[in-house]
Amino acid sequence: KDAGLCKKLDVPADLLEKVDVFIFDCDGVIWKGDSLIDKVPAVLAMLRAAGKKVFFVTNNSTKSRKGYLGKFKSLGLEETQPEEIFSSSFAAAAYLEQTKFKESGKKVYIIGEVGIEEELDMIGVPWIGGGSDAGKKIALKSGYALPHDSDVGAVIVGFDREINYHKIQYAQLCINENPGCEFIATNLDAVTHLTDAQEWAGNGAMAGAIKGCTGREPTLVGKPSPLMIDYMVEKFGIERGRICMVGDRLDTDILFGQNNGLLSCLTLSGVTTEEKLLSPENEIKPDFYVDSIADFL
Ligand code: PLP
Ligand code: CA
Repeated sequence: KDAGLCKKLDVPADLLEKVDVFIFDCDGVIWKGDSLIDKVPAVLAMLRAAGKKVFFVTNNSTKSRKGYLGKFKSLGLEETQPEEIFSSSFAAAAYLEQTKFKESGKKVYIIGEVGIEEELDMIGVPWIGGGSDAGKKIALKSGYALPHDSDVGAVIVGFDREINYHKIQYAQLCINENPGCEFIATNLDAVTHLTDAQEWAGNGAMAGAIKGCTGREPTLVGKPSPLMIDYMVEKFGIERGRICMVGDRLDTDILFGQNNGLLSCLTLSGVTTEEKLLSPENEIKPDFYVDSIADFL
């Protein structure tokens, strides 16, 4: 895109005329870690009062939609509705629903945290692994083989602070030895901001470990893949050309907007600096950018 199209927004009224639906990325836009970003309640109240639909889409798979609803409420965003929330943990479950996984009678092996477990429980898909494999060690001795379940038909890999060699080997066995076994990544964020003191290895590391030992490319269900926007367009009958995707990350949020025919707005309240956005090396340009969504006021 022509870099000239990318400018700071100075006419909010124009935006409200063009857009019916705002999709907000969460971390770096609505909150940072466990702190709400300044003026977010006022922005959401203003958009709701103007009759706009709002949705929240996060690539963080560690919580389910139910878990995120609790987070929105605990941050004082009481008006948030369950159907407004989309997480990459939910996207993984939605993918299994779309592909009629349940009809196969198989189960899922999870590398990931409680968010994926809860979403699979919601759709009644049996799973193994996840938190129950935390702390497992492999005792190597001559002739030892790790047994694995030949009924695993999909491995879902999400962010997992308890990933270990047992989980990697188990996933490797399922993918390489079970015919037709799928490899699904909730997201591929390279790094994430667990604290604001440094960048931390994101799910790109977990998915990369499994890619490395299987040679398989994962099916991506989180941003920038179209799965969640296709789901929303179908479920809520919204028009792509009148949706604005607002996010702080170029290779997930802004690409999600661009690849899917949405207007895109970058906020500088998260991981992307103005310098990085405007640098000649960056090819992903949003339609416009703001310091934070407080500028919408
Ligand atoms: N994955 C993990 C583990 C995270 O901690 C975060 C942000 O905190 C993300 C992904 C990105 O989340 P979002 O899409 O809301 O920015
Ligand atoms: Ca973000």
